Amino acid sequence: YAPLAEIDPVVKNIIDKETWRQFSGIELIASENLTSLAVMEANGSVLTNKYSEGLPGARYYGGNEYIDELEVLCRKRALQAFNLDPEKWGVNVQPYSGSHFSFAVLTALIQPQDRLMGLGLPDGGHLTHGYYTAKKKMTASSIYFQSLPYGLDPSTQLIDYVGLRKQAKTFKPRLIICGASAYPRDWDYKTLRAICDSEGAYLMADIAHTSGLVAAQQLNSPFDYCDVVTTTTHKTLRGARGGLIFFRKDGANYEDLEKRVNDAVFPACQGGPHNNTIAAVATALLQVSQPEYKEYARQVIANARTLGSALLEYGYRLQTGGTDNHLVLWDLRPLGLTGSKVEKVCDLLGITINKNAVSGDASAQTPGGIRLGTSALTSRDMKEEDIKVVASFLHRAVQLSILLQKEAGTKMLKDFVRVATTETEGKVGAKMV
Ligand code: PLP
Repeated sequence: YAPLAEIDPVVKNIIDKETWRQFSGIELIASENLTSLAVMEANGSVLTNKYSEGLPGARYYGGNEYIDELEVLCRKRALQAFNLDPEKWGVNVQPYSGSHFSFAVLTALIQPQDRLMGLGLPDGGHLTHGYYTAKKKMTASSIYFQSLPYGLDPSTQLIDYVGLRKQAKTFKPRLIICGASAYPRDWDYKTLRAICDSEGAYLMADIAHTSGLVAAQQLNSPFDYCDVVTTTTHKTLRGARGGLIFFRKDGANYEDLEKRVNDAVFPACQGGPHNNTIAAVATALLQVSQPEYKEYARQVIANARTLGSALLEYGYRLQTGGTDNHLVLWDLRPLGLTGSKVEKVCDLLGITINKNAVSGDASAQTPGGIRLGTSALTSRDMKEEDIKVVASFLHRAVQLSILLQKEAGTKMLKDFVRVATTETEGKVGAKMV
């Protein structure tokens, strides 16, 4: 029963350092958020001790009466948070993460080597939506299935629905996945449904990034048109790290979908559920259903719009010229900078961002942009005026990167980045700034 500091001061020290980093830094990674203490308490509870393979009422282990109660509660809250009728929608709350739910849905809906289409990674899609390169099939979704990416219209940088329709006509996918990791605009689910219907394909929406905004009715709802909707629980939804799979129950087409999804999660892709996570997700979903959360989601979008407008006023280029959701994609290519360099400079300044491909980048490995999200700063109660100050910091960080590159050539910027990448030398780098 001794505390962590006594049993393992090394790990305790690492946790303390990370706590300070999160507390003192400016967190702009679009896939991250700062969850509540209540969620963390549930996540760190004795529920981590319990095995419960199976589903409520049908487990492979004894002693699950409270775990059953918890999982039923979590399902109920998940449906409530998204305003779903339990007669029409069901949910599996066991996926360990986004990558797990993606493979589970593929397992449930289609056969090995069937065809699927997802938004290409360089255009903002996620790895698990069928990503591969000319050299390599990178993810299970491209190794075990035939995948063809769709993309953005280069003139608008919006989803090219016309191109997608044409591609689908010849490729004949069994599944189209919509949803993204880096797309600053909303989705046209009605058009996607029509494309799927004309080709006999399933439609899955992976709303991992935007689910909190969908729950708060700030974005279009995929539930009106999709067969399956998935989300991680730790991005805009602000819970612990996990995943949810929502599946339709109404209508003849969906008779066995519940069983297929449940069997795909366990035993096909996972073992025992992480019950501490399910408890933490249940608590997060309770918070999502409160009126304050709706206000939070509205503020996340207002902050992202403010960030976008401020960067445009400084004269920078944004993909699609702005945002409808929680993120902004900043195209650094006109400045002659890469996303990775600016990411490193920002690290030294205590601003956490990530490099990201922007439309037209040849490779996702050397991206020409950065992705900025406002979910975490909004959780720290930042409003539009604060975000303008953050934009001014970003402006100065980028100007510093340009200066280093211009005045001293790329070598100095490379040295600067190298210095920033080692812990001891990082202090020197910080002084340089
Ligand atoms: N789906 C989307 C759209 C994502 O953006 C992500 C992660 O960022 C995932 C799935 C995978 O989630 P995880 O990292 O929890 O596996």
